[in-house]
Amino acid sequence: MESLRSDVVYLDNACTTLKPQDVIDAVVEYYKRPACHGRSAHALAREVNERVEEARERVARFVNAKHIIWTKNATEALNLVINGFPFRNKKVVTTILEHHAVLLPLLRRKDLEVKIIEPTLEAWEGVIDSSVDLAVTFAVNNTTGQKQNIKEIYKLCEDNGVKLCVDGAQAVPHLKTDYPYHYLCFSAHKMCGPTGIGALALSELDLEPLVLGGGTVKEVAIDRYTLLPHEAKYEAGIQHYAGIFGFAAACKFLEQVGMEQIAEKERSLRMLIDRALSEYITYGKGEVATAIFNLPNAPCHEVALMLDKKGIAVRSGYFCAQPGVMWLGAKEGTVRVSAYFYNNEEDIKVLGDALEEIALLY
Ligand code: PMP
Repeated sequence: MESLRSDVVYLDNACTTLKPQDVIDAVVEYYKRPACHGRSAHALAREVNERVEEARERVARFVNAKHIIWTKNATEALNLVINGFPFRNKKVVTTILEHHAVLLPLLRRKDLEVKIIEPTLEAWEGVIDSSVDLAVTFAVNNTTGQKQNIKEIYKLCEDNGVKLCVDGAQAVPHLKTDYPYHYLCFSAHKMCGPTGIGALALSELDLEPLVLGGGTVKEVAIDRYTLLPHEAKYEAGIQHYAGIFGFAAACKFLEQVGMEQIAEKERSLRMLIDRALSEYITYGKGEVATAIFNLPNAPCHEVALMLDKKGIAVRSGYFCAQPGVMWLGAKEGTVRVSAYFYNNEEDIKVLGDALEEIALLY
């Protein structure tokens, strides 16, 4: 757990988390015995083949998935779903509080009719019907820490023949993935794993690949090609094997800590955060230990820089969710504090004391 303490009070975990030694070791391990996956027949390559497939199984188990496709991050997984989905009516539903990784790929598809709703179950009930092809939404929000009732949204989708793509970037690290989905997108670096590797978990391999190239095909002629029928058709070119090893090590590490324990710890940290912020301007309500706020009259970036001077790492701005943050009423952005299971009561107290001092300046 040593590497899970930083030399600053690290409260920017929604951006990326700290890395345990086991994850760092797993990454280094690959570079000591490197080879390509799914290509050469020599012993080193066979070892990499085996470890990549073991990692796939471990990550799949972690999120209860039938299939796992390696991606660069949650963003790439979301782009893969939105661009590769076999639309019939070209109708999608999403919410105003989504990350740009959801909103931008949807907005770029000018051929789609995108209905944007508020993130409430009542709003979902009002729009999901059999004319909709796809629903894309977060399970846990990266600004307010709000949880959505994915089980109910999934049921609504299933009843109407709609596919549900869950943006799990902020959910998979914090809560047990005990909810159903058709597609689930997440990043290793937000769950103690390395950067540059993420995954798309899916129940059926029914998407068009985003990128084609080496490793995706069964047969190629000069005028045609046949894609492989399995996960490999989505993994063109040499992949981030060190990252994949580190991703599996991160899942193992979180399993050892226990996802229930992580969720419980975050609930108590969230209560402390809410108390520390109770005198300031807060936005929305949430359950995990991620919250946004402003000090009255204080520009958010100034507050974040002053916290930085005091050795406290937070983030400020719109958190790649500008329409959502504006909709919540913070036209100039906010400060975001995001704790993870390795943070403690003292970290939140240090934050609270620092904010009291900074608030006096405005
Ligand atoms: N969705 C949400 C809710 C996020 O918080 C983030 C990361 N801030 C992403 C998607 C994108 O994750 P990544 O940058 O790792 O692709």
